[in-house]
Formats: sequence, C-alpha cells, structure tokens
Amino acid sequence: MCIFCQIVKGEIPCYKIYEDDKVLAFLDIKPVNPGHTLVIPKKHFKTIEEINEDYLAYLIKVVKKIGNKLKNNLNVLGYNIQLNNDPVAGQEIAHLHFHVIPRLKNDNLKLFPQKSYNSGEAEEIVKKIIKD
Ligand code: AMP
Ligand code: ZN
Repeated sequence: MCIFCQIVKGEIPCYKIYEDDKVLAFLDIKPVNPGHTLVIPKKHFKTIEEINEDYLAYLIKVVKKIGNKLKNNLNVLGYNIQLNNDPVAGQEIAHLHFHVIPRLKNDNLKLFPQKSYNSGEAEEIVKKIIKD
C-alpha cells in the first residue's frame, strides 16, 4: 500500500488540516514554506488521468478551501497550486496529490526557467496538441 494510503488509513500519522469522506489535506512534512499542504483523494489514483471528473472537481474545491484558509488564517499573500503528474514531472509519491504552497514576499523561490520558440515552432506544436 502506498504511503499516502497508509496516512488515509491512520497507519502513518500526519498533521491533518481537513478531512471528509473523499478527501484528506495535511501538512507536507518537508515544506517549501510553512503551511505547505497536500490535498489528496482518499481513494488511490496514480495520476490525474486515472481520477474521474466529478471526483477531481471535488478535490479542486477542497484545494480552493485550503487556499482560502492559508490566505485568511496564515496571512500569506498568495500561493502556488502544483500537481506533479508522473515521475518525469517530479512525482515521487504515486498517489495523486495537489501541493498548496504558501508564498511569502521575498521568499526568492524560482519557478521553472522558460525558453523561447523558434520561428514556426509554436504553430507546429499547436497543430500536434489539438489533433484528436
Ligand atoms: P511529489 O514529489 O509531488 O510526489 O511530492 C511528494 C511530497 O510528499 C513531498 O513534498 C514530500 O515532502 C511529501 N511527503 C512525503 N512523505 C510524507 C509524509 N509522511 N507526510 C507528509 N508529507 C510527506
Ligand atoms: Zn495510495
């Protein structure tokens, strides 16, 4: 059983922020900033492709609730919502989870470095992405 399923079952402790019958939110044990929260479906899905749309919509509603809590009660000015989908994207725990990461003024976190498209490249990519 995966480590997050064990947390859901209460076999491994967590710092719980929110729980209902479908969703659990708890502190990330290694926070980017204090209050960094993970929001997970209680049912095991590996990636966003596996979860059905209603369940995902509900999960996102809870993500929004947690964001509001962080803003209102921790006085953070904003936050990043991150989903690492698949190992190549940095997913270390194979149980779908959203990170809600409080951002502090001058926390000096750098997001991804960005590149530029060469001439014609963007058009090609769009064509590939939108094909059925
Ligand atoms: P990811 O790289 O998106 O799979 O993120 C997994 C996250 O889970 C990391 O940020 C870890 O710090 C966090 N994590 C791992 N084990 C635990 C745990 N037992 N309790 C809380 N957070 C954990
Ligand atoms: Zn799991």
